[in-house]
Amino acid sequence: MSDVIKLLPDHIANQIAAGEVVQRPASVVKELIENSIDAGATKINLIVKDGGRTLVQVIDNGSGMSEIDARMSFERHATSKIKDANDLFALHTKGFRGEALASIAAVAHVSLKTKRVDAELGTEIINEGSKIVSQESVMCSDGTSIAVKNLFFNVPARRNFLGKDTTEYRKILDEFLRIALVHPEIEFTFHHNDEEIYNLKNSNLRQRIVQIYGTNFNQRLVPVNEETDIVNITGFVTKPEFNKASRDQCFFFVNNRYFNDRYFNHAINNAYEGLIPSGKFPPYFLYFDVPTHSIDVNVHPTKTEIKFEENQAIYAIIRSAVKQALGQFNIAPTLDFEQEQSFNSISPKKGEPIRVPEIKVDPAYNPFVSTKPSNNSGTTGTISSNGFSKIKPHREDWEGFYEIAKNEEKAVEQEELTVESGMDTELKAAPKKPVQINEKYIMVSMKSGFMLIDQYRAHNRILYEQFMAASEGNQIKTQKLLFPETLEIEKTDMPVWSELLPQLNEMGFDVEMEKTELAISGVPVEAKDKNPKEIIIAIFESFKASEQEADASDRVALSMASSLAIRGGNSLNTDEMDYIVDALFATSSPQIAPNGKKIIETITIEELTKRFN
Ligand code: ADP
Ligand code: MG
Repeated sequence: MSDVIKLLPDHIANQIAAGEVVQRPASVVKELIENSIDAGATKINLIVKDGGRTLVQVIDNGSGMSEIDARMSFERHATSKIKDANDLFALHTKGFRGEALASIAAVAHVSLKTKRVDAELGTEIINEGSKIVSQESVMCSDGTSIAVKNLFFNVPARRNFLGKDTTEYRKILDEFLRIALVHPEIEFTFHHNDEEIYNLKNSNLRQRIVQIYGTNFNQRLVPVNEETDIVNITGFVTKPEFNKASRDQCFFFVNNRYFNDRYFNHAINNAYEGLIPSGKFPPYFLYFDVPTHSIDVNVHPTKTEIKFEENQAIYAIIRSAVKQALGQFNIAPTLDFEQEQSFNSISPKKGEPIRVPEIKVDPAYNPFVSTKPSNNSGTTGTISSNGFSKIKPHREDWEGFYEIAKNEEKAVEQEELTVESGMDTELKAAPKKPVQINEKYIMVSMKSGFMLIDQYRAHNRILYEQFMAASEGNQIKTQKLLFPETLEIEKTDMPVWSELLPQLNEMGFDVEMEKTELAISGVPVEAKDKNPKEIIIAIFESFKASEQEADASDRVALSMASSLAIRGGNSLNTDEMDYIVDALFATSSPQIAPNGKKIIETITIEELTKRFN
């Protein structure tokens, strides 16, 4: 029998390899731009036609290639970036496999023009389906221009598999952003079908994000900075109220490379727990710096998953860094004069350049421990007869806070970030009495108008934070029952009860399970006027229904808060209203209830005046 094994001709081998590297026009965009960055470019222009089907062209002002290198660059495993296997472990370039250009040329018409700075003339090479069609010396500018036309011209199966132009365009946009967000120092332009999509100037990270997503974004960003032995995390998360229904503004990068990680996504969601509704996502831009040996560098060229050695530790670090960032940011309840100043200074007048806001931080502040009002330092609230904890009113504090927050919000709404200068920061000394409307809303007047507070949502927020603080060690007062009560429980519910009980006891209940019965001998003071059995069942039901993924104490706190918060339809006296208003503004997010709903609506004097016209 004759021998049957043959080496595949180069152009076939390249075509097969191309299947891995070049899946769609977006892959071409990624590879070409990465090459430009590796070549030290400071300006990169991307030109795309018809979702990349007809043309993807990248022009850079990088190092350029000599005539011989230009020719070599199309060979498979031709790379200038590594010399031996050891280099793999200390990679500082984006590419290293030497496969991209060979693969692209195998399935498209490529024309390359390149010139080194020190050379008189440049080189132009036309390569169609791995065949060099022409090569000549040409006059051209320094750097490299690569045009990729008629992608998959020789692979109909692939060509037919492409999505609509708009789909491919979106994928290209994603790739473009993933790179542009890592290199704010590089200028990028992006044209699609002759329309300018982006023109990004050299800048810093914050400005780059704002250039991409619009001026509104500036005020939404909350800086994150965490240095640890295993990872450094920098970048931005966003204020909870700007959450989105999709993850398309969620970005992780490691050592300047985009990656996607469901586990780490979860860490972020966890940090926002109770601040945004489930199914919503806060935009974020987080950059991890890890030693190169602690991640798997030999990643597949098109994959965005990355293996981390210290997965779990990093999860915990992300979670705490994000929580801390949110807490340090001025969503913080108590404010002092300095904070007001910094708030004012982040809104430049028209025409002034945007300054990066300086954020005064209180590193000790933790948003998930309920904060005592500043002028009531240290003293625990006492319990009044109506079951509300009493704290001294300190309206001046939150009114100031509110005014500032409101102004800031306004600035966000107005594209140019203008705000009346010289805002009078003096606050009224004597607060007016709150008024209850329709047994549902608390109306409070402020200097600039008035606000309506949804009593149930506000109390829900207050209780939620109290219970969360309890799960972190803050004691909750228990009211012993005169006559302990028993509650029959279903066998099938036993596992849920066993998960719930320790949490309940931590949060002020005194409950024990004896076989198929619960013995209730104490309840948190907040629940002392309620029927203990009913309230425990309500909590149980809502705990059982809540998302399993979330942290158990969080689920219990959410369930307890929503079951115990004072509903609409209950009338409140002035003390109770004062308590709700003050305690609300002592929470980490007075604006949003734990279920994501709005707590406060404001009407300004201006709006009122308009109505009377
Ligand atoms: P890799 O990036 O993995 O080295 P590629 O196939 O993407 O492999 O590129 C092959 C080689 O061609 C690179 O190593 C580099 O030397 C050269 N090259 C490619 N694109 C450019 C560019 N835009 N500017 C300068 N050199 C380039
Ligand atoms: Mg490359």
